[in-house]
Amino acid sequence: MARNILVSVAWPYANSLIHVGNITGSYLPADIFARYQRLAGNRVLMVSGSDSHGTPVTVRADADGTTPLDVYARFHSGFLELFQKLGLTYDLFTSTHTENHFKVSQSIFLALEKNGYLYTDRQQQWYSSAQGRFLPDRYVEGTCYVCGYESARGDQCDQCGSLLEATSLIDPRSKIDGSTPELKETKHFYLDLGNLQPAIVDFLTQREDYWRSNVIRQSLGQILADDLHGRAITRDLDWGVPVPMDGWEEKRLYVWFEAVIGYLSASVEWAQLNDQPQAWHDWWYNHQANSYYFIGKDNIPFHAVIWPGQLIGAGEWFDKIFEEREGSTLVLPFDVPANEFMNLEGQKISGSRSWAVWGLDFLSRYDPDTLRYYLTANMPESKDTDWDWNDFLNRNNNELVATWGNLANRVLSFSYKNWDGYVPTPGKLRSADREVIETIEAGFDTVGQHINAVNLRAGLIETMRLAGEVNKYLDQNAPWFEIKEDKSAAGTSIYTALRAIDSLKILFSPFLPFSSEQLHTYLGYDGTLFGEQFIETVQDNLGDHEVLRYNSTNASGRWEPSQLLAGQKLREPAPLFRKLDLSIVELERARLGKPETS
Ligand SMILES: [Zn+2]
Repeated sequence: MARNILVSVAWPYANSLIHVGNITGSYLPADIFARYQRLAGNRVLMVSGSDSHGTPVTVRADADGTTPLDVYARFHSGFLELFQKLGLTYDLFTSTHTENHFKVSQSIFLALEKNGYLYTDRQQQWYSSAQGRFLPDRYVEGTCYVCGYESARGDQCDQCGSLLEATSLIDPRSKIDGSTPELKETKHFYLDLGNLQPAIVDFLTQREDYWRSNVIRQSLGQILADDLHGRAITRDLDWGVPVPMDGWEEKRLYVWFEAVIGYLSASVEWAQLNDQPQAWHDWWYNHQANSYYFIGKDNIPFHAVIWPGQLIGAGEWFDKIFEEREGSTLVLPFDVPANEFMNLEGQKISGSRSWAVWGLDFLSRYDPDTLRYYLTANMPESKDTDWDWNDFLNRNNNELVATWGNLANRVLSFSYKNWDGYVPTPGKLRSADREVIETIEAGFDTVGQHINAVNLRAGLIETMRLAGEVNKYLDQNAPWFEIKEDKSAAGTSIYTALRAIDSLKILFSPFLPFSSEQLHTYLGYDGTLFGEQFIETVQDNLGDHEVLRYNSTNASGRWEPSQLLAGQKLREPAPLFRKLDLSIVELERARLGKPETS
């Protein structure tokens, strides 16, 4: 039976370019998973957008001498370009700076308030007397009081991952001018996580058996070690979602509180853009639906603890407030398959030091499937991994090109040349023929199970192993020589290999969609396996925003074995992948550490 699957993907901050670590951390795994689930016949809704608010964007605007709106719009448009080029099939990639997101976020806030999970309190906050303003957490840096790291951000330590109380930082410094701030009193709304703790623990306990151990450790494990406390959800800032209360006009919802609500608001906007305004209910009020959250490990507490807390706390009131109808509760996360980090040539990726491989820059020199292949083969699913240019070259040339690309190309070319451009008609299949076809067809179960369990690396390794089995079959049967003795026997071998390749095309397609589409065409099929991405401009009272969408109406791919017909007309084939020259290793290494270009 078809499942409704929500694929929620981390929201990139609209203040910096996207690098390969970001891509392999959350965006690419989400797309592989979504493509597979669609092929398998499930109803997928894949959403995300630019995290447009908060101090990361205002800090950048100050640094660049521009407005937060300009910063957000500039980076957002780069994200749309990258995600199109990389083939990330978001049903909707939008932004948090939309009227719809404001309304959904404010409704969650009001629902929490109705249920008694918000309270106000006065707190101390860093204040810059030089600037005459409160400094949001991100404007303050200091020494982490958990691990002693000297450049911890006010809200979180990048070294040990702990969420921090900015006021407890040791040796605080203003990021604007380096001056030492002073503590001053301000009033804020708080999310009562202490009161929500029993429900959150219950939620996590039900998922303990099947979530990744690092995610359970950073959620349930941390709560059991140290109880949850209320967290401020408003900020002294003028950029962001207004607090829907009289007397709070000077403050905004804190970005960590409203950005996660984006999964819900993007689903609502997707339904509106499709002229089916209730369609999002199938994922958010239908408790048979499964929602997956693809994020990096630095975001685990927000998605595994705080976001479920917000959803539980909103209860039926969100439905009553937002939809003005009798309340249903919202669907809680089914899985949060957070990835670890990818390093680069043995060092931590750092945008500020330009120690990064930037997505768009990479794609100006290489093909998207080359990137998708390397990032999946090296995906940090259970531990940190390393992008190494030499390893990149070897995997491209020895695996992608040698094992898979050459297999497809030599069989297609041979068939195209010797059977006048048609798939040969086989004689009775011999046991070796049947065996290799069965081996490949079994991949639809094994690879499918790996992807369904979000073990994407294992799924790709298994698919590449199957391609190797077809190579072995060809080595044994050698149709290139067979044809000189017995053309009909060679035709049986080539038909068998083409049918295996036709199945491998589907097995590889969630990982390598561009080359699979190409292969689909060479094999003589009309139409496409997947749908089309497109950009649309949406207008509301906040102005225009561009969104990336995906239309799968014409997608014909199915997660099932090839039914390749003898006598099908092929199209003239060309190599699927490019072999790379050894010289790129030194060239690419020389680029590292150079300032970003856009
Ligand atoms: Zn720390």
